[in-house]
Amino acid sequence: MSAAAENDALLRVSALHALLYCERLFYLEEVEEIRIADASVYAGRTLHEELAGEEGEEQRSFFLSSEKLGLTGKLDAVRHRNGNWVVYEHKRGKPLLRKGEEPQAWESDIIQVAAYSLLLEEYLDKELQEARIRYHGQNTTVIVPLTAENRNKVIAGIDKARKLRSATSRPPVCESSKKCLRCSLAPVCLPEEERFARSSEWEPLRLFPPEIEGAALHVTGHQARLGRSGDAFKLEEGENAARKLPSADIHSITIHGNGQVSTQALHLCAGKGIHLHWFSGGGTYLGSFSPGPGPVQRRIRQYQALTDPGLCLRLSRRTVRAKVESQLRFLLRSTRGGKRNDRIEAGIEEIRSLLKTASTAEGVDALRGLEGSAAQTYFDLLPGILNDDIQEELIPSGRSRRPPKDRFNAILSFGYSMLYRAVFEAILAVGLEPAFGYLHTPRSSAHPLVMDVLELFRVSVWDIVAVSSINRKQWNAESDFAVTKEKVWLSDEGRKKAIVLFERRMQDKWKHPVLDYSLSWQRTMELEVRLLEKEWTDTPGLFAQSRIR
Ligand code: SF4
Repeated sequence: MSAAAENDALLRVSALHALLYCERLFYLEEVEEIRIADASVYAGRTLHEELAGEEGEEQRSFFLSSEKLGLTGKLDAVRHRNGNWVVYEHKRGKPLLRKGEEPQAWESDIIQVAAYSLLLEEYLDKELQEARIRYHGQNTTVIVPLTAENRNKVIAGIDKARKLRSATSRPPVCESSKKCLRCSLAPVCLPEEERFARSSEWEPLRLFPPEIEGAALHVTGHQARLGRSGDAFKLEEGENAARKLPSADIHSITIHGNGQVSTQALHLCAGKGIHLHWFSGGGTYLGSFSPGPGPVQRRIRQYQALTDPGLCLRLSRRTVRAKVESQLRFLLRSTRGGKRNDRIEAGIEEIRSLLKTASTAEGVDALRGLEGSAAQTYFDLLPGILNDDIQEELIPSGRSRRPPKDRFNAILSFGYSMLYRAVFEAILAVGLEPAFGYLHTPRSSAHPLVMDVLELFRVSVWDIVAVSSINRKQWNAESDFAVTKEKVWLSDEGRKKAIVLFERRMQDKWKHPVLDYSLSWQRTMELEVRLLEKEWTDTPGLFAQSRIR
């Protein structure tokens, strides 16, 4: 379809209804193609289905389209009354109630039912006089006269929708925050965060869900086979009986090592929007399967924004500051009460002075260098925050990555791989392009945007967990590791332990220090990616502001 034809495509009356509720909602649904069937949307659907079953013959539900109006829609019901046809619309909620006045229909409902009536008029070639809206929440029917004013509102709405369809930027959030409370797209739109970004006086309500539904499925056995059985995954691991895992309970799948995935299981992932990731047995990221083409408009905006060197520098400064400040805070809080010797004190001072220069660094290269220096000092100091009585084999000597040279680094590297997968998931959930970042240089083995956002979570999600699990003696220096001369990996047992620790951490809730509401770390990742997108779509300023306490 050509661009012009696409813009001329018939407008759904339900989209017109969304437009009148909030222009931004229309844009998110129609242009960015984000639709969420939440409880209220589902409730609306079941109401319509119940009515379809209950009502008598005089009621029908059918589709009508008009090239002339540029409109299409499914009418709930039509009745013949006093010689005239009347369109009926059913709403689960209540009408507009004003003190001392009769119940009235909401503006967006008026336009919706008027639009259906115009479609029916054209179909019957007969002028209609009124339409009716049944508000089941109040057991009230409101009559909507088909006046010239209401007809003109429909035409003006269609015109507005056409203009918005060809716009490249999102409309602002609506004035009334009450509307957002009932809006299914609030977790994507982040209206409260937007209002807070504009005025720090605003106290944001949490419309962003605190947790992600469903679990991350990790397949760790080298002999494992993941297949499909109807709407469920079927997992066979060695001698164990096959397990059926309903797809509705799973939001992502990670295959560690050589586990097999059937084509049927991949089809199920594609149908349910479940992302699948492959990691080597040693924890190296190998690749992912992500269904769907991705939202094009959002990615175009991302490309445009992240080709601006000024914006990339600002985002890089904030990311490096957030990471280094988290490292500093972790060192400070872990060395309270006697552990802070002269060496640690000197290292902390060095990190402090690097942190000061991060705000004024004049280029992304300088920031990368600064971040590297801070990381080296931080890793040099980490052995100093381990308890004196831990096994000697678990004490690291600096940071070694590819491959890890000691057990501590094997734990760190595996956790960072899990973190990579989780941030990757968050970026895909938001609809951004993981390969287009602002701080890390593009390289074939890792997506730069994932690496950029991941920096915000290294300390809070994994370093803290790794150190405290070692201090609590949760690791077995023999059975949890596979040690060779060149490298140290986690063994099967060690991997399972790390996965449990990681997933538990992802569900831990904490209070966002700026937005002042609680959510899981898993949700925080998605929130940060959405706040990152706001840096170029809405009011900037909230990305990378969170810190560990
Ligand atoms: S959350 Fe509010 S501003 Fe955002 S789309 Fe919904 S109604 Fe509009």
